[in-house]
Amino acid sequence: VSGLTKAFRHKTGFFARPTSQLAVNSIDLELAPHERIGVVGESGSGKSTLGRLLLGLTEPTEGDVWFEGVNHKERRERDWKAFRMRTALVQQNPLSALNPQMTVGQQIAEGLLVHHVCNRNFAYERAAAMLERVGLPGAMMNRYPHQMSGGQRQRVVIARALILDPRLVVFDEAVSALDVSVQAQVVALLRSLWQELDLAYVFITHDLRIVRHLVDRIAVMYLGRVVEMGDIRSVYAWPRHPYTRALLASVPSLDPAIRNIEPPIKGERDASKVSTGCAFRSRCPFAIDRCAIETPELRHVGGQQVACHLADELPKSIASPGGTLS
Ligand code: SF4
Ligand code: MG
Repeated sequence: VSGLTKAFRHKTGFFARPTSQLAVNSIDLELAPHERIGVVGESGSGKSTLGRLLLGLTEPTEGDVWFEGVNHKERRERDWKAFRMRTALVQQNPLSALNPQMTVGQQIAEGLLVHHVCNRNFAYERAAAMLERVGLPGAMMNRYPHQMSGGQRQRVVIARALILDPRLVVFDEAVSALDVSVQAQVVALLRSLWQELDLAYVFITHDLRIVRHLVDRIAVMYLGRVVEMGDIRSVYAWPRHPYTRALLASVPSLDPAIRNIEPPIKGERDASKVSTGCAFRSRCPFAIDRCAIETPELRHVGGQQVACHLADELPKSIASPGGTLS
């Protein structure tokens, strides 16, 4: 991904002039085969838009996305079909993602039939095997979505996403709507599926406790920009951007011995601060004059990349939330 930018035009009122807001702002990113990256940030930070741009579901205003060497801009209809077979999107609400009038088996097998991968009998066999692989009994093939629990439905959506053996899956808040105990089961499932399959994924979430179990690398987004990116362990051990520090500090620690000493994030996000200077400055406890004038670019600090003028000057101050990384 290079220089990826998406602007949305919107009007604040009937008489207002339409303004353009950058949902995704100049993002550069690489994902290797079989790599897992987490994209985190508050809602409205551009995470979902980034996911949709990666999958070609939204067209960028500027910039490029390549997948397996091919630029999205150069894909013809036939290439898009092939691309669709090699990628998948799993979203938050499994009930709206599933067709209420089709059985679970029909929905999992559908991809194989639509893309003429195999005949109907074999497609149903593969669908049943996939259903079992995601932890549901094959007999559930004949159920309808409303006859299942939320956790079971999300497993069905995952089975459907994986039936064509994709190389890239974007999970957008895929476990956020589930109960905590069900969440833990689905997280364990995703971990084991990833170990087995030749699959890279982008895990989009606002939940910093969950993402650390699921990814190798993390990208923190703030108002459309990546403000910090790096190995999950180094970012959690020593978050360098004031926003990442505040995000991690607001995660309740599982270990009562660890108390967060970082102040909570104060203030509102201010999208008008996006064009010049650091967009986080209205909320940043460390802001200096330079932050209003000069936009910080991502640069290497410690083991990660950070977009903050003071990234190498701030003291290491917070403990990793939720105990140690596993
Ligand atoms: Fe804070 Fe300035 Fe760093 Fe932005 S560049 S995060 S305002 S210190
Ligand atoms: Mg979203």
